[in-house]
Formats: sequence, C-alpha cells, structure tokens
Amino acid sequence: MSQRIPVGVLGATGMVGQHFVKFLSHHPWFEIAFVGASDRSAGKKYSEATSWRLAGAMPDDVANLTVAECKPAGAPKLVFSAMDAGVATEIEQAFAKAGHTVVSNSRNHRMEADVPLLVPELNADHLGVLAAQKKNRGWSGQIVTNPNCSTIVLTMALGPLKRFGITRCVATTMQAISGAGYPGVASMDITANVVPYIGSEEEKMESETQKILGAFADGAFADHPMKLSATCNRVPVVDGHLISVSVELSSKPGEAEVRAAIEAFTAEPQRLKLPSAPARPVVYLPQQDRPQPRRDVDRENGMAVFMGRLRPCPVFDWKFLCLGHNTVRGAAGASVLNAELMQAQGLI
Ligand code: NAP
Repeated sequence: MSQRIPVGVLGATGMVGQHFVKFLSHHPWFEIAFVGASDRSAGKKYSEATSWRLAGAMPDDVANLTVAECKPAGAPKLVFSAMDAGVATEIEQAFAKAGHTVVSNSRNHRMEADVPLLVPELNADHLGVLAAQKKNRGWSGQIVTNPNCSTIVLTMALGPLKRFGITRCVATTMQAISGAGYPGVASMDITANVVPYIGSEEEKMESETQKILGAFADGAFADHPMKLSATCNRVPVVDGHLISVSVELSSKPGEAEVRAAIEAFTAEPQRLKLPSAPARPVVYLPQQDRPQPRRDVDRENGMAVFMGRLRPCPVFDWKFLCLGHNTVRGAAGASVLNAELMQAQGLI
C-alpha cells in the first residue's frame, strides 16, 4: 500500500485504547490520525490526557495529536472503538449512521442479530450480514465487533476441532490481571491468590462462542449446537489467559487425527497474508509442561493461540490446554485483524 489509511481510535486514552495505539504504531496499512475520548480529555494533547501504562514509550506521532470528543465530524472513515461500555452503544451507532466503519472491542453490540462477532480465522463469512445491518438500521456505515478476551482463545482452539462435531465442552479459565483493565483487581485480592469469579465472563464465553462457531445462512446467525460450560478464574499472571478444556467430539477422532487437524489449521487471514495474521493461527506445543503464560504469550507477536497437553478425557473425548494474549489477540490485535480482513475484502 503506497499511502497508509488514516484511522481513529475512540477511547484512545484508556487501557484498551493504549493497546490500540501501541499495536497500530508502525502498522503497514493504517495510520492513527484521530484520537477520541471523553470531554474530560478533549482539547489536550494525547500525551497530557493519557497516563501511559504500557511497556515502551508512547509513540511520538500520536503523543502530539490533540484529543477530540468522540463525534463523527472530522474523524476518519475507519475507527477502532475502545470506549467505556457505558457510552459505546450510542457513540458507535452515531459513527455508523454518519457513514463510518466502526471496528469495536466493546461488548455493546456483540450479540446483536445483524452485527458480526468476527474472528477472521473462524467466521469470515459472518461479514455477509453487513448488507442487512445497513438496511435494517438505515445507516451507510457499519459496526463489526470482536469477542471477549477469553472467548477468542477458546474459539481459536476449538476451530480446528469443529470438523469432528463438537457436542459438549467444559472450559475453565486462568485469566491474567491485565484483562481487568487499570487499576484492575486490588493487589490485596490477587497477590498469591486466585479469585474464582469474573463478573459476566462465563455468560459471555458461553454465548459468544456459540455465535462465533455457529452458522450464517439465509441472512441469519444460528448458534452452534454444542453444550458449553465455562468457569472463569482470575489468577496472578500479568498477561495471557490459559484455559483448560475438555471436549466431546461426535466423530470420535483418534489423537493423530486431532493433532493433524490442529497442525494443518489455516484460514483466510493466512491465505490473504494480512499484516497482523500469525503464520499459523494455532500452534501446538509438544512439551509436557506448555503452554505457559510467561514463556509463550508473546510468541507470534501475541496473535497466535497455543495449545498443548492433548490427552484422552475419561469423561468426554479429549482434553487440552490453550493460551492466548488477552490484550493483543484478545483485544486490540483482534480488532486490527478484523479491519485488515475487511480492507482486503473491499468492505471499508
Ligand atoms: P478505560 O481504561 O476505563 O478507558 C475508557 C475509555 O473510554 C477512555 O478513553 C475514556 O476517556 C473513554 N470514555 C469514557 N467516557 C467517555 C465518553 N462519555 N465519551 C467518549 N469516550 C469516553 O477502559 P478499558 O479497560 O480500556 O476498556 C474499554 C472497553 O474495552 C470497555 O468497553 C471494555 O469492556 C472493553 N474491554 C476491555 C478489556 C481490558 O482488558 N481492559 C478487554 C476487553 C474488552 P477519558 O480518558 O477521557 O475518560
């Protein structure tokens, strides 16, 4: 691409917004030209409005941008959304109505019947609903969402197994503190401890997984029919959600078939060579004590999901562990890959 496409980040001063700013610095296709936040930040330089909490320096070119209110006038056609969920519904809709493409990390529109909940490796065909979205809503823009950070790790690991007919699944998460934003979980709660509750997380994992792995036919989504039970725990890990999974598979594949399916798994982002696509979306680690958050989460730029410890399950058929970077593949990186797919398909 000879000239980079100007993009905006709504909620740019927040934790997820900062991950967008970091992820998009040096992006080959997209260049941040607009940073939006609340009226508390509007009018200030990004460097003054933002308490930068990520490793590495704030990118210079963004540091000098003036923060705007999250209003469509003057914003680029493509905007990423990392706004507080309390305000995202109306603002994202206002942008779509004004003709913008909103690629959102917020939960607000994820489960709506005419909004894709997109994981490019799994359900690129769900973008087919966008024509109906524009028609239903009477707007010229569009909204596309990515899932919750634990859902994306689970669905990426289940993707290669879908062909065997997933009938039941039990998933237990060990989720990093960074998934709670800033300041996140109180240190007195999480130091040397596990908190066996994350508000609404289990419900989101169950419903979002069924939408993502479900079908899109005749203009409508149909949930994947598997029964799924999720239990979510917060653990004292900085980055990386690790999930212990047991699955029942109707075609009863053997270990070699399951391993071969994982290792051969590839999809549209890899075929299109999208800039943020990992070479292999799911990487199987054969060592008996992997994947581990500290050792594996940053591999493949945080964009792949790592699986390991595939073994027979005495209750269902197979059990395994999977790991993904919650703020990269589970948040900003997921949205950017969604936008890359849409750009490559001529949808922006
Ligand atoms: P955050 O740190 O509290 O940041 C919220 C952002 O929204 C800030 O930029 C804030 O601007 C902006 N904002 C607040 N009120 C606004 C208004 N009235 N108009 C426009 N902008 C407004 O939150 P976060 O942790 O980054 O989460 C952002 C979103 O991503 C949420 O919807 C959350 O559910 C979702 N999410 C978060 C994570 C995570 O790891 N934290 C993971 C997945 C999804 P000011 O700085 O000006 O207040």
